[in-house]
Amino acid sequence: VALSTAACGSSDRDTASTGSSGATKGFAKDATIGVALPSKTSENWVLAGDLFTNGLKDAGFKGDVQYAGASTTVADQQSQISSMITKGAKVIVIGATDAAQLGTQVKQAKDSGAVVIAYDRLITGTADVDYYVAFDNFKVGQLQGQALLDGMKAKKPTGPWTIELFSGSPDDNNAGVFFNGAMDVLKPLIDKGDLVVGSGQKDVKQTAIQGWKAEGAQARMDTIMTSTYATGGKTLDGVLSPNDTLARAIITSVKAAGKPVPVVTGQDSEVESVKSIMAGEQYSTINKDTRKLVAQTIEMVKKLQAGSEPDVNDTKSYNNGVKVVPSYLLPPVIVTKANAAEAYANDPKLSPLTK
Ligand code: BGC
Repeated sequence: VALSTAACGSSDRDTASTGSSGATKGFAKDATIGVALPSKTSENWVLAGDLFTNGLKDAGFKGDVQYAGASTTVADQQSQISSMITKGAKVIVIGATDAAQLGTQVKQAKDSGAVVIAYDRLITGTADVDYYVAFDNFKVGQLQGQALLDGMKAKKPTGPWTIELFSGSPDDNNAGVFFNGAMDVLKPLIDKGDLVVGSGQKDVKQTAIQGWKAEGAQARMDTIMTSTYATGGKTLDGVLSPNDTLARAIITSVKAAGKPVPVVTGQDSEVESVKSIMAGEQYSTINKDTRKLVAQTIEMVKKLQAGSEPDVNDTKSYNNGVKVVPSYLLPPVIVTKANAAEAYANDPKLSPLTK
């Protein structure tokens, strides 16, 4: 019953101006807005915190922006959300540190009358998430898979190509979404034998890097370099890396093993990776402009404040296991050396790196 009620709620929202979120009531212009972010596992999270702090202030709200700590992240985030509820937050924006461990907190948030927005990462297994705002993460994975192929073909026009696969932290719902998106492109070629996973480790569980930690990726790559590429003359043509932090760790490992740098994908447009791409090392990254994502989220908060329904542009793609969460999805952009100048033209931090 809960499932179908939730599903109805989400499709209603598409057409009706009133939703089940309580959004239509509106709230005070200077209300408290909670923002619970995960630990700072990549530059985008650092940036998001600053942008939320300033953006909410500029919009007249009392922003309460918190990061989960580096180690006890789940418990940290749970208690931060509880304290936002106690402070009377009207909207709680959550970049989940563990997608599946927030059911109790988001239920408490809903019961208190707050609206819950999942930011960048979906919260799973609960009907109590009202909206999801993110770059289309499945698309990110597809772009990564395609970039891996393009990069390898540019270096070696005919296959088969030997690759390795990496995925992100298993507690982050995005990790599986990125991987599935990439596999949507790569799996048919793996099945045909055009792509060969040298280590044989193709399952998402075998490829996962807990906590998105660079050390974890480097250690796994070190092991694979020794087990699969040290002897026997196999050449590693490409590595699917879900983000820039892991990409750089993978490149470090391959170099330490004394082997040529393969085509390595990434994500986040981190400064060091953009430099690496311009230097011809890392092959690709993804531009998910954090400024746009935060601005979109603050737009949603403003709509809710005024008592109207926030805009969504997708009501079918992101199912959290209990309901399809009405989403506002922004388009991710693939970046290689070839289009970096164009892709970062409006980014004062990255643009100079492409000159
Ligand atoms: C984000 C990525 C990021 C990763 C690690 C994911 O949920 O979508 O952009 O690389 O977390 O911080």
